[in-house]
Amino acid sequence: MNHSKPILSPRPGAGIALATTLTFCACSAMQSGSAADSSQAAAAITPELLESHVRFLSSDHLEGRGVGTRGDELARSYLATQMAGLGLQPGGPDGSWEQRVPIRGITSKVTQPMAARGNGDSATFEAPTDFTAVAGSPDATASWNGAELVFVGYGIHAPEQSWDDYQGMDLTGKVLLFMNNDPSNDPEKFAGKTRLYYGRWSYKFEEAARRGAIGAIVIHTTPSAGYPFQVIQASHGRENFWLPFADGVPTLGVRSWCSEGAAKRLCELGGHDLDALRERAEKGNQPPVPLGVAMDLAIENTVRELESANVLGVLPGSDNKLKDEYVVITAHFDHLGIGKPRRNDEIYNGAVDNATGCAGMLAIAQAAAELEPAPRRSLLFLAVTAEESGLLGSKYYAQNPTVDKKKLLANFNVDGLNIWGKTRDVEFIGHGKSSLTALAEAIAAEQGRRMEPDSSPDKGLFYRSDHFSFARIGVPAAFFKAGRDFYDRPADRRRMKASYTTVNYHQPSDELADWWRFDGAVPDVQLLFECLVRTANADTAPTWTPGDEFEKLR
Ligand SMILES: [Zn+2]
Repeated sequence: MNHSKPILSPRPGAGIALATTLTFCACSAMQSGSAADSSQAAAAITPELLESHVRFLSSDHLEGRGVGTRGDELARSYLATQMAGLGLQPGGPDGSWEQRVPIRGITSKVTQPMAARGNGDSATFEAPTDFTAVAGSPDATASWNGAELVFVGYGIHAPEQSWDDYQGMDLTGKVLLFMNNDPSNDPEKFAGKTRLYYGRWSYKFEEAARRGAIGAIVIHTTPSAGYPFQVIQASHGRENFWLPFADGVPTLGVRSWCSEGAAKRLCELGGHDLDALRERAEKGNQPPVPLGVAMDLAIENTVRELESANVLGVLPGSDNKLKDEYVVITAHFDHLGIGKPRRNDEIYNGAVDNATGCAGMLAIAQAAAELEPAPRRSLLFLAVTAEESGLLGSKYYAQNPTVDKKKLLANFNVDGLNIWGKTRDVEFIGHGKSSLTALAEAIAAEQGRRMEPDSSPDKGLFYRSDHFSFARIGVPAAFFKAGRDFYDRPADRRRMKASYTTVNYHQPSDELADWWRFDGAVPDVQLLFECLVRTANADTAPTWTPGDEFEKLR
């Protein structure tokens, strides 16, 4: 859809955001000695500035910024041009603005449906009604040919939690069947109901590959996934994107999901009861259960090479001793491109997701460029590609950092801004995981606002955007989401926000509209800006909370 109508008309309340949110008290300025300067610079972050970047990046001209498309190239060109205009230095290899990211697209077709045999009985399963199967390796084909099915509980090996679902069993050549999510009954283990990385299917598939398995099946249940089986079914047959497969890193021939009904049937064939198996697994440290079921399945894969890039700009630090250290802000610029039409619209504009995040990042760059002197440490503005394809751009950066990874001090990530109006709160995903929590809490308090912990910890949002790629290499990372405590017509605004996610998330209708308002995004972006500047000016580097799952990686 096009936006022919200008929508920059002043909205009530839009102009007062700055006046009310920029009163930083002197006590908090001790480390930088420049809170007054930074609050002046933060005034560059306005609703109009944010909207202007969103208007271009989410326009139909960019065709949804799909990976490896013309829209991808245009978005990169815009980001680099804006960064250059603000006086940032190119942060890519050899003085360029881009870090090339090679991407491989794999489309899998089931050529022999999933079948299982046990106890003289057999069953055949249909894709995508009962199961889905995609490649976990770049090989042209993968098959199971009667491989044995083994139930492995949650499929988690977590020494620091004294939890091991594998118990040293040799699983070479087997197909694993595991439960989704992580244990949540004991508040002392796996952070209770909060989903950790151990609960993500990506971890489980990686662990299965390390164990020598040739395939693995996640048992889908709506509560454990946080979404219905249709979401899994919808992804069946779609192209999946990967970074080049590294030599020596084990791969899994087939990554599969099945419905709960199919899982029950699979267990029955071996004379087992799924509920009993699950109950046993909750106790932890139970040996895997070979189910006495032989599995058949074959898939065929089509592989294609694509090219994209991350865009990087640097604001060099002003302190000679500290300028080699970096504070990183990330925002992904990719979205889903052109796809299945909905209401005669085939362009998935990705306006909230994540044209707004790029706008926030560019606005922060604009404010930061006005600081005199620049922050002591360097700031790295990193617009990453292929987030929607599995955080590939940020993962590639984390594997191939442009500076020594020990010098990457912290990462702040923006993925979606508030378009519904001003709030008294802002949500911190990964609350309590690192010293960044206290920093952000203090800044929010100076704004006269509150920092709230993740409102749906079971969704595992900490593992679902680009900050996670940094956490995985040990860099303390933080991610903020829009608050819910609206000043203006709170019930109404909350409903609008909730329905935006339900109706427009990852749909062609995530596009700029005239009811959008950026006055709520301004204080959120200013908060992020302050986090960045103060981390860059602080005497000490941020740290993980002792005992956090990522602490050992630092
Ligand atoms: Zn996103």
